[in-house]
Amino acid sequence: MGNQPDENGFYGSFGGAYVPEILYKCVTDLQQAYLPIIESESFKKEYHQLLKDYVGRPSPLYHARRMSEKYGCRLYLKREDLNHTGAHKINNTIGQILMARQMGKTRVIAETGAGQHGVATATVCALMGMQCEIFMGATDVERQHVNVERMRMLGATVHPVTTGNMTLSDACSQAIRDWCSHPQDTFYIVGSTMGPHPYPDIVARMQSVISEEIKWQLQEQVGRDYPDYLVACVGGGSNAAGTIYHYIEDERVGIYLAEAGGHGIDTDYTAATMHCGTEGIIHGSRTLVMQTDDGQIKEAFTISAGLDYPGIGPMHAQLARSGRTNILAINDDEAIYAGYELTRMEGIIPAIESAHAVAALAKMKFEPDDVVVLTVSGRGDKDVETFLKNKALAGEYGEF
Ligand SMILES: *Cc1c(COP(=O)(O)O)cnc(C)c1O
Repeated sequence: MGNQPDENGFYGSFGGAYVPEILYKCVTDLQQAYLPIIESESFKKEYHQLLKDYVGRPSPLYHARRMSEKYGCRLYLKREDLNHTGAHKINNTIGQILMARQMGKTRVIAETGAGQHGVATATVCALMGMQCEIFMGATDVERQHVNVERMRMLGATVHPVTTGNMTLSDACSQAIRDWCSHPQDTFYIVGSTMGPHPYPDIVARMQSVISEEIKWQLQEQVGRDYPDYLVACVGGGSNAAGTIYHYIEDERVGIYLAEAGGHGIDTDYTAATMHCGTEGIIHGSRTLVMQTDDGQIKEAFTISAGLDYPGIGPMHAQLARSGRTNILAINDDEAIYAGYELTRMEGIIPAIESAHAVAALAKMKFEPDDVVVLTVSGRGDKDVETFLKNKALAGEYGEF
């Protein structure tokens, strides 16, 4: 299997579009419209122009010399943290806002966890002069206060969601409910490779610019256009999908993805869906879900609000099942340590999500000539307090 779903949006047995009757027309309209829009010359031109002049792409591919020496490989960091708004999310929201405009929609909604997707959505809505409503769990509204203020400053209305555990999963459910009551004028900008078909494919295509750039940047810097290993973190799976998109069929490239282990996969405090999930339906898609024996969705736990999701994009569920990707569970303490390590060795404060990918390096084995590309999905400004507050957790791995 490659990076494409079948015509019904399935990656193997995962994916599809399980939506309420009232959304059926919206979703089928989008299924019919998305590829012609994405492949049109006018879309491509505007999308790439905005990525260049507004987002600041291409993002650098940086040879991390001190970390390379430590891990005994040639480590390159794909710097999505340097994008406008601080993460990879904007690659996707730029594409979807152009799609919304093309489809004549006037109102945009989105869910958000850490607030990064909310900020990226509010940003493109300001850019295009569109009404913007963001759904965010009340717990996250509190712990990601600065991002809430950014969204408000950008002109978005932030709706705190007080159902369930009041985190990302509940925000998704609430966004879907809102979409059901405004199907005509509203475009739902989904933030990761999740949700009903065609969203996982739309988001993967929008993020695929990451591996498109890695190809020519590697060619320039190491003289071949593929690495030996790719490393990324996975929440819903969008930065990982973008990182691996153009390499999925290339068996020379090993793929290691880091999901959030929380306190550990043998505890109830985890968000490691690919280790602990079973097949089920969540937010419109058949995929791996953390659920009880009778199908109740379990709460996800991790120190990282951006990885705090009890599901996983269907493409990743299938790639992991087929053995194409290796999934590592990284616990909170390992991520905190890795975040400090990257900060002190390379002067780059990563998002706590991205620190999970950095922590994967310690669990991998390298030959000195191996070329490793690791995606730093976002910057750590939003997480400085979390790092400082939890510094003691990193203690058992070394001193900072
Ligand atoms: C949202 C986010 C993630 C997780 O989302 P994916 O869709 O799995 O990429 C990872 N890193 C950062 C910085 C984020 O903001």
